[in-house]
Amino acid sequence: MNMERNQAGDWRSCLRRVTPYVPGEQPKEQNIIKLNTNENPYPPSPAVVQSLKQMDPVRLRLYPDPSCGTLTKALADYHGVGTDQVFVGVGSDDVLAMAFITFFNSDRPVFFPDVTYSFYPVWAELFQIPCECKALDESFRIRSEDYYKANGGVIFPNPNAPTGLVEPLSFIEDILEHNRDVIVVVDEAYIDFGGQSALPLLARYENLLVTRTYSKSRSMAGVRIGYAIGSPELIRAMQDVKYSFNSYTMNQAALELGAAALADEAYFKMTTDRIVATRNAAVRRLTEQGFHCLDSAANFVFATHPQYDGEKLFAYLRQHGIYVRHFNGPRISQYLRITVGLDEEMERLYETLERAYGSL
Ligand code: PMP
Repeated sequence: MNMERNQAGDWRSCLRRVTPYVPGEQPKEQNIIKLNTNENPYPPSPAVVQSLKQMDPVRLRLYPDPSCGTLTKALADYHGVGTDQVFVGVGSDDVLAMAFITFFNSDRPVFFPDVTYSFYPVWAELFQIPCECKALDESFRIRSEDYYKANGGVIFPNPNAPTGLVEPLSFIEDILEHNRDVIVVVDEAYIDFGGQSALPLLARYENLLVTRTYSKSRSMAGVRIGYAIGSPELIRAMQDVKYSFNSYTMNQAALELGAAALADEAYFKMTTDRIVATRNAAVRRLTEQGFHCLDSAANFVFATHPQYDGEKLFAYLRQHGIYVRHFNGPRISQYLRITVGLDEEMERLYETLERAYGSL
C-alpha cells in the first residue's frame, strides 16, 4: 500500500479553493428598473432578430464550426484586420480568461489597477498567477509610471470600470513603450461609448491584445460573445490553449447572430449615440442633486453623494425597485455605479433619489 496516499477523508485537501467573482444580481421580479450590470437598455438590432427567426433548427444537430469561421471573418472585415488576428469567445470573460492563462506565465507579477474589473484578481488566483495591484491616483486615474517596472504582463480596461474614466491613445502607447517584453491587454468592453480604441497601435506593437464584447454596445449580453484582436502569433497561442480546453466554445446561434449584428452599423450608431446622450444628461441631473460624478466615457456613471451613505442609497433604491451596483471595496464604498438605462427609467431614478433624501 502506498503510504504517501492521502488519509481517508482527506480528499478536501485536494480541492481547488478560490474566492469567486460575484456577478451583479439578476432579479426575478418583474417591473424592476435594472441599472446594475451595464447591459444595454435597447433590444438587439432588427438584423439580429431576423437572423434568429431564420435560423435552421436542424443545424443544431451538428457541432458548430470550431474555428468560428463566419463570425471571425465578419469581425476581421469589420475591423480591417486579418482573420488570423481575431479570437472569439463566450463573452469577453472567456476571452480574458484565455488571455490570462495564455500570456501571463512569468514568475514576475502581472500588473493591474487596484480599482478595476474585479474579475482580474479572480483569474490570477484561479490560474495561480502572481499579481500586483497598482493604486489609482486620488482622482481615480491610472498612473502610467506604476507600469514601468519589470512585470509579467499588464492588463487594464479602457475606459476603466467601475470608474468610467478613459485614457488617451498616448497613454496606452506610453505603457506599451515601457512594456515591450510582456503582453499588454487593453480591455475595451466600453470603448464604443467614448474614447479612442487602441486598435491602430496593433500595427506597431505585436505584444498588444485588445478585447471587446457584444454585451454592452451591441445589446447582446445574453448571447455571450466576446473577442480579441492581436498579432497572428498571439491569436495562434490563444487558439492552442482554447483547443486544449474546449474546441466548441461558441454555439451555432451565437456564431450566426454575432455576424448578423455587424451588418447593421446604423442601428449600432443610433443606440450608442442615445446612450451617450442619456449618460451626459444623467451626469448633469445627478450633479444637480448634489452627486459628484466621475467623467464617464462608458455606459454607466460612477457617483457619490457627500451627504448620503452609498450603501444606504443603494438599499433605498433597491427597496423601491431600482437596482444599481454598490461595491464594498476600499475607496469606493461610498460610490454607486449606475448603468445608463432608457430616458424614462432614468427619470424614475432621479425621482426616487429625491424621495430618498427626504427619508434617509
Ligand atoms: N471587462 C469589463 C471591464 C467588464 O465590465 C465586463 C462586464 N462584466 C467584462 C469585461 C465582461 O463582459 P462579457 O463577458 O459580458 O463580455
